Amino acid sequence: MALCDQSLPNVRAISPYLPGKPMTQLAREMGLPLERIVKLASNENPLGMSPRARVAIEKAISSLERYPDDFDLKNALASHSGLEMERIVLGNGSNDVLDLIARVFLAPGRSAIFSQHAFAVYPLASLSAGAELIAVPAKEYGHDLEAMRHAIQAHTRLIWIANPNNPTGTFVPSPQLKAFMQAVPADVVVVLDEAYNDYIPPAERTDTTAWLAEFPNLVITRTFSKIYGLAGLRIGYALASAEIADLMNRVRQPFNCNNLALAAATAALDDHEFVARSYALNRSGMEQIVAGIKRFGLTHIPSHGNFVAFKAGDAPTLNQKLLKQGVIVRPIGGYGMPEWLRVTIGTELENLRFLEALEIAQRRSV
Ligand SMILES: *Cc1c(COP(=O)(O)O)cnc(C)c1O
Repeated sequence: MALCDQSLPNVRAISPYLPGKPMTQLAREMGLPLERIVKLASNENPLGMSPRARVAIEKAISSLERYPDDFDLKNALASHSGLEMERIVLGNGSNDVLDLIARVFLAPGRSAIFSQHAFAVYPLASLSAGAELIAVPAKEYGHDLEAMRHAIQAHTRLIWIANPNNPTGTFVPSPQLKAFMQAVPADVVVVLDEAYNDYIPPAERTDTTAWLAEFPNLVITRTFSKIYGLAGLRIGYALASAEIADLMNRVRQPFNCNNLALAAATAALDDHEFVARSYALNRSGMEQIVAGIKRFGLTHIPSHGNFVAFKAGDAPTLNQKLLKQGVIVRPIGGYGMPEWLRVTIGTELENLRFLEALEIAQRRSV
């Protein structure tokens, strides 16, 4: 038998993750100068990172010969969340903690539930662990919690929920989410991925960490990749019961988060001014982009994140026309939305560049 036929079938069943096209790659492909490229494809923070994080990184550079010490970040997250340090698990990006949860609870013979159009890492982590996947049809592009609850089977061990969801930007209000938690059997883990939590308007935001006391089967994940602007450093975390956190730490690589990431995240966490500025820029940019999309007669899904999905019809062609003009957005055919594109909210100027490119792309002659 051929060598790769000996690999695990669940691994062969994984569709490779397709990242946003890197700026340097497009510059090479199109022969454009790098300055002409606008990347609105990966939900990154257009303001960069917190200035405090930069100072912390510069300081941490002088001790890179040492193995990482995660005390300061865990301690800061404990104060930030009001939870004990034992309940915090750090990850090399929150993708890493999602994978840890899967490795603790999933295996062949077990199943995980996720929603149609939900974040791509859930099937990835579930299949890597050998579990069966139960995909529940979405309702108006968002999680249908009622249907997800009814999809639970005897072998179901885990349910993935992104709130807000990527790439749709849909959001489940907290009363519905809480009712769902009350209805889910206590021996099924619910992973609540709150990567975009800080972009939710305060009036709609709920402190779900307070629910952990009531629901020991709840695991909340958050990241420094989005509003904190540290996507390239790879740092995120999970909040869970001390028991689940202990299990996750057993499968975690001992030094999964590096010194620079730990230092930057610790400093960024307290930079409320930077977070507020990022939030405000996203609000105004969202209005700018949504108004522009509407002007062109395109449909969009109202979003609670730092991105918005819009219906492009022939999305691959439109995407190609945008790329030719140096604008990178994200095709989401891999999420079961072949006619849609997702654009990240950028600076005012980047948003303008995107809208101009969209206008030119929509003219038939191009
Ligand atoms: C971006 C994103 C994350 C964050 O991933 P990191 O590994 O922390 O960079 C997690 N969940 C969702 C739904 C996301 O869109």
